[in-house]
Amino acid sequence: SEVTNITNRLDSFLGSVNIIISGGGKGRSWKWKDMLRFPHISQCMELAKTLERDYYSLCVKQPIGRQLFRLFCQSKPELRLSDLYPNVLHLALTLPSPICEGLCVLGIHLRLLCFYSDLHEYLSGAPFLQYQQSMYFDRFLQWKMVERQPVTKHIFRQYRLLGKGGFGEVWAFQARASGKMYACKKLEKTHVKKGKGEAMALNEKQILETLNSRFVVSLAYAYETKQSLCLVLTIMNGGDLRFHIYNMGTSGLEQDRVQFYAAEVCCGLHHLHQMNIVYRDLKPENILLDDNGHIRISDLGLAVTLSEGNLVRGRVGTLGYMAPEVIGNDYYGLSPDWWGLGCLVYEMTAGRSPFKRKGERLIGKEMERRIQEEEEEYGKIFSNETKDFCRLLLTKDPRDRLGCQGSGVYGIQSHPFFRTINFRRLEAGVIEPPFKPDPRAVYCQDVQDIDEFSTVKGVILERADNDFYIKFNTGSVAIPWQTEMIEMGCFKELNVFGPQGSRPPDLDW
Ligand code: ADP
Ligand code: MG
Ligand code: MG
Repeated sequence: SEVTNITNRLDSFLGSVNIIISGGGKGRSWKWKDMLRFPHISQCMELAKTLERDYYSLCVKQPIGRQLFRLFCQSKPELRLSDLYPNVLHLALTLPSPICEGLCVLGIHLRLLCFYSDLHEYLSGAPFLQYQQSMYFDRFLQWKMVERQPVTKHIFRQYRLLGKGGFGEVWAFQARASGKMYACKKLEKTHVKKGKGEAMALNEKQILETLNSRFVVSLAYAYETKQSLCLVLTIMNGGDLRFHIYNMGTSGLEQDRVQFYAAEVCCGLHHLHQMNIVYRDLKPENILLDDNGHIRISDLGLAVTLSEGNLVRGRVGTLGYMAPEVIGNDYYGLSPDWWGLGCLVYEMTAGRSPFKRKGERLIGKEMERRIQEEEEEYGKIFSNETKDFCRLLLTKDPRDRLGCQGSGVYGIQSHPFFRTINFRRLEAGVIEPPFKPDPRAVYCQDVQDIDEFSTVKGVILERADNDFYIKFNTGSVAIPWQTEMIEMGCFKELNVFGPQGSRPPDLDW
């Protein structure tokens, strides 16, 4: 009965996932099938030779790879497993890892997860070898070839202006083949060159493409046009936290929203930190809301990867949000981000930043002095837990700061400030946000107020600049691109086999 119980709960859970995943054909170009046409398998041989045969990447991490490997297993009676591990092989292949995390939410963890890693060990042996000889793997190569087509501006439709950055504008874009909406951050080549932003642009692109978290914007494509370098990112339509703190009538946010956003930011930072990346630019402007009210960290221009056990130095960030060790030009690791979280929670609660009174104008030097020397003040609006939490994060000496000790992020997550947050459920994306943006509202300043971005005159682009553009222009990013294909229904419609066009059995999730 325990098994039935688990199965029932699982079914209802997967049922709700299904609704999210089945996309429609809305917004697709009428030529979408041509845009995604499979090459003949003979054209995939070069790829077959060079592709790294890593089980985990090909059959677990890449969403289309995972689906095809599952179809392969379903086609093999001996891998249908019911004998070996009833239901479990099926589960291991059915569930993308976020859903496995979802299972934890349902309390089905430990035993299942043991099976889960056993199974992957088994599957990565002989079954993985067999798979690579099968038509399902041929099909995977075909999808990979489509994924790796060169990316140009013709792949997208351009809609409204979303915002403006240092090197160019951000626009709402739609992928013509699938209909999926994105934000395209354009970096004008002349502006980048004039501002010597090449290394920064490339750094942002290279960091973004290695990330895969629901709390950080994803990079789906990087490409170039004649005038600009383009980063195609998760679209975040709900405005930034700065707008929500200051422009919605009252300044400051309700405590449940503060806790929720802080918790999601904390998960996003944790993801970056696990990859040894310090973000260094935490501030309300850089935290964006999506249509449902979830947030993601954006703008990774200042992020940096720490090399194995090393610290970095560099006075970067935004005045007012820099940690004392950054201002002091000391060596640091991940600590500035936890300071940043303290500033963010403070500002969301009080409607002002911790070291500046409302409306006060400050010169840089005075702001730096206050950050390094002065103790921040807490008004009546702070609950005891919030005050304690901010104090611990805004500890001047990074060695004594919450989050920077042995227990790391767990020290933060187990603080009473977060007592209402279940981090497992949060990571699985099953917590309903406390505030849902109005789909008709535009949560930003009027686009009329955003100055036009024109090319800089007198900057000449040369042959040498091209080396940098080539490094930038790598096209689709595997996981987000494959997710787009599955989510928008293109995978299901195109993935037919055989001369009769017979469709493989439906993936029954
Ligand atoms: P910069 O690095 O030059 O500061 P940002 O990445 O911060 O550029 O982008 C500039 C502005 O564009 C942001 O303040 C925001 O208004 C908008 N924007 C950026 N990324 C997105 C996105 N993914 N979805 C929606 N709007 C975005
Ligand atoms: Mg920015
Ligand atoms: Mg930036």
